[in-house]
Amino acid sequence: MSPKVLAGLGVPPSETEGFRVFRGKGCQLCNQTGYKGRIGLYEVMPISDDLKELILSRGSHFDIKKRAIGRGMKTLRMSGITKIAEGVTTIEEILRTTIDDRQ
Ligand SMILES: [Zn+2]
Repeated sequence: MSPKVLAGLGVPPSETEGFRVFRGKGCQLCNQTGYKGRIGLYEVMPISDDLKELILSRGSHFDIKKRAIGRGMKTLRMSGITKIAEGVTTIEEILRTTIDDRQ
């Protein structure tokens, strides 16, 4: 994968080198999809005091998200990127099922 594609997906620049992606070639059992079963992607936002204030003062969803990420929250897209790196799913599946963190 080119660093440009990975950057577009949201992979941090520090992690693009050596970032490997995988794809199952498929077989009769999986109807040629290369996928078996399902996995979960999770996003949990712990509410710190400053986030609580931002929410109560009607901060925009983007500002709230940005603050939460700054506090260490992993978004669904980030969770998906981890799954891609683990080789358990594909870039296509993560692009299909999660939104870009820059919006
Ligand atoms: Zn198969």
